Amino acid sequence: MLYLYNTLARVKQPFQPINAPHVGLYVCGPTVYGDAHLGHARPAITFDILYRYLTHLGYKVRYVRNITDVGHLEHDADEGEDKIAKKARLEQLEPMEVVQYYCNRYHRDMEALNVLPPSIEPHASGHIIEQIEFVKKILDNGYAYVSEGSVYFDVEKYAKDFHYGKLSGRNLEDIVTETRELDGQAEKKHSYDFALWKKAAPEHIMHWPSPWSEGFPGWHMECSTMGTKYLGEEFDIHGGGMDLMFPHHEAEIAQSCAALGHDSVRYWMHNNMITIAGKKMGKSYNNFITLEQFFKGEHPLLSKPFGPMVIRFFILQAHYRSTVDFSSEALEAAEKGLQRINEAYARLLKLKASTETSANIVETIAGLATRCEEAMSDDLQSSTVISALFDSAKAINTVADGKGTISETDLAELLATWKTFAIEILGLRLDADDNAAAGNQNMDAYKGAVDLLLNMRLEAKRNKDWATSDLIRNQLTELGFTIKDGKDSFEWSL
Ligand code: ZN
Repeated sequence: MLYLYNTLARVKQPFQPINAPHVGLYVCGPTVYGDAHLGHARPAITFDILYRYLTHLGYKVRYVRNITDVGHLEHDADEGEDKIAKKARLEQLEPMEVVQYYCNRYHRDMEALNVLPPSIEPHASGHIIEQIEFVKKILDNGYAYVSEGSVYFDVEKYAKDFHYGKLSGRNLEDIVTETRELDGQAEKKHSYDFALWKKAAPEHIMHWPSPWSEGFPGWHMECSTMGTKYLGEEFDIHGGGMDLMFPHHEAEIAQSCAALGHDSVRYWMHNNMITIAGKKMGKSYNNFITLEQFFKGEHPLLSKPFGPMVIRFFILQAHYRSTVDFSSEALEAAEKGLQRINEAYARLLKLKASTETSANIVETIAGLATRCEEAMSDDLQSSTVISALFDSAKAINTVADGKGTISETDLAELLATWKTFAIEILGLRLDADDNAAAGNQNMDAYKGAVDLLLNMRLEAKRNKDWATSDLIRNQLTELGFTIKDGKDSFEWSL
């Protein structure tokens, strides 16, 4: 049985899909106005291993990860300039050029990290009509009001009928004291009311017609709308970074309850943050390092370049709900760890089976698959899977060094466990695999080239072009090939 920690219930719960074997998974994706940094890698990798593990368990997962390309404003998403429109203004680009550019780069970085693409990647700007319909439902149910062409969620009204703040553990009083009064909020009844639709200022370049004004949707709106559009009014899992819990996910819950009369999400899952010297990493903190900078080693905080698999391994070494503190030293340690895993896997591929498994390794390898399965089923304890792999690496080295033996059955099982957990579920691209694949490809190309030459020679012989025929044979012989001529055929070896 798979147990997942449900942030809303604040407890690990057995996972029971609404409509097994189908599972609906929604994860908040990036706002595409800049390059992905280490803070983006964590949710992507966390929910990637959830996606992979659910698939491994036999579920048919529909994984939706959105692209925010409109409506995410600078201050708490609700005030200030649109992040994409601002970038477009600064770079003198059409906003959708900004979106496309950073989307492409995001995909490139995710591919490098071996993060599988989601089943659907909807863009907020592609779902304006659906968002308008969603806002209408909230208005019809009386939980929103129109003011100066904008539509705001009526938090006070909502809080009378539902618990606003239940995900992040806040009361309305906490929210009142937390919320800053900002300029331009006079049109709201309360500073903590959030925008469902914003009337565009004249200089605002991204806007669409609506019953209330020429404008654009509030940021929280897209996830409520696209989650329910693609996964149903009630779906299984909603994930994202812990920093999105408030106000974004809290607002999503409120919007869904206000529009539909009930929650949309069964299990809320949140990954913890990556810190640098204890401080949150993010654009607003000026301490972020982009993934590209990691891969190229181009940042003052980095001692050297770190490959994408090192970043992935570094993140998976911690449980997703604990914080990870970044430093160059921590990455160097992860690189050494990954190196050990790589070496063990390369040796595993070359191990020779004996008649039986020796006593000094039998215990380590016998329980390996179960240990990994139990760890993943206990709220995705990737760190425990990694320790189990390290333990089995010792067993592999014992056999490879001639200090132990392994039976054919145990060897097959050990190899299958590594393939399942290290490669398929943790998603590590192991060097030995890459090299073997590249090696096979090279071998195929080389054989093809020699065959091509000898077929050309055969054709020359048929045409009685002895000069060409001899030239090919002599040159290949000089390179060390042995050629045996048959009747209208050939064989060769090196
Ligand atoms: Zn979202």
